[in-house]
Amino acid sequence: MAASVSSSSHLNKTVRQSYMSLPQGGKCLVTYVWIDGTGEGLRNKTRTLDREPKGIDDIPEWNFDGSSTSQAKDRDSDMYLIPVCMFRDPFTLDPNKLVLCEVLTYDRLPAEKNHRASCNKVMEKVKTHNLWFGMEQEYTLLGLDGRPFSWPSNGYPEPQGPYYCAVGANNAYGRDIVECHYKACLYAGVKIFGTNAEVMPSQWEFQVGTCEGIEIGDHLWVARFLLHRVCEDFGVVASLDPKPMAGNWNGAGCHTNVSTNQMREDNGLDFINRAIVKLSEKHGEHIRVYDPHDGKDNVRRLTGQHETANINSFTHGVASRRSSIRIPRETSVQKKGYFEDRRPAANCDPYSVIAAIVETCLLDPEDKEQSK
Ligand code: ADP
Ligand code: MN
Ligand code: MN
Ligand code: MN
Repeated sequence: MAASVSSSSHLNKTVRQSYMSLPQGGKCLVTYVWIDGTGEGLRNKTRTLDREPKGIDDIPEWNFDGSSTSQAKDRDSDMYLIPVCMFRDPFTLDPNKLVLCEVLTYDRLPAEKNHRASCNKVMEKVKTHNLWFGMEQEYTLLGLDGRPFSWPSNGYPEPQGPYYCAVGANNAYGRDIVECHYKACLYAGVKIFGTNAEVMPSQWEFQVGTCEGIEIGDHLWVARFLLHRVCEDFGVVASLDPKPMAGNWNGAGCHTNVSTNQMREDNGLDFINRAIVKLSEKHGEHIRVYDPHDGKDNVRRLTGQHETANINSFTHGVASRRSSIRIPRETSVQKKGYFEDRRPAANCDPYSVIAAIVETCLLDPEDKEQSK
């Protein structure tokens, strides 16, 4: 098993610790994090500031070589990093920071995969609805050999059944990572809601939320960055592939829970049902933005099996995990609350997902009532 764990994870951590506890001479490390040209990958680089930034406005713009991240050709390859959201750095600790950035091209337009810029405009239009989101990020731990972490190299674990929310060495694989990631999120200031082991062994979930508007995207992307970084320390890989193992194994999604202030008030269920009608009319459009490859990743996952609805049909139901949209039991009983869109793939861009939901449910030009 050791062979599937990275060499870096075996470097001497006691030696590392003696350096990490050196004083910094009053300086502050700021690690800039951004989404690369794949729309899935994250990149980062670090610089020194002379003093601790007190807010996002104290962090200067920066730039990087876009030709090395599939974001630019060799000409005009400088891309701008625009800080948008600041967190504490759980790896090098206070006063150091992590900062999520938007990427702009050399002429200061949003880069191709910068879906935050357009999402932000959509969210501004619907501010009075006080949209709340919670996203459930499923992921799979892989060894460096590409097999799920701790699966036998020549064979398979016992069939699914005992692993969901499991405890015990035979059923829960890699909990160290889950717990370290959780603590890292809390330290950083990421709004992590909870975590659980998933149906497939070595598959886990954390939830981010409840957040208002664009914040869900910012916090989910930083939570993903922290996950990849924690996994690096342990020498394994976190995959967001929506169906890492073909066959009788669950895939990985990013269920998106949504409510407006009207949905949360008495008889809000009427507004939820109205939103579901709207979503039913735009199923294809949504599937195309629920993974980074126009639905081609998600088609492997949304089979109608393994707690999914088939990619070609739109369905909804109370407490139904086989539906595109699930109304939680509690929401149905209280006649108010939220709904869950179960279609987004684990590797979706949350900015694209929430923008599509808001456009469909609240900004339909043919329905002036909704967008008031
Ligand atoms: P599931 O039962 O589908 O596994 P989880 O417990 O994993 O649900 O996640 C529930 C998610 O719902 C959390 O991310 C939480 O932030 C979100 N949530 C709870 N209440 C609301 C609400 N009123 N509006 C939007 N999201 C909500
Ligand atoms: Mn969940
Ligand atoms: Mn889940
Ligand atoms: Mn769910």
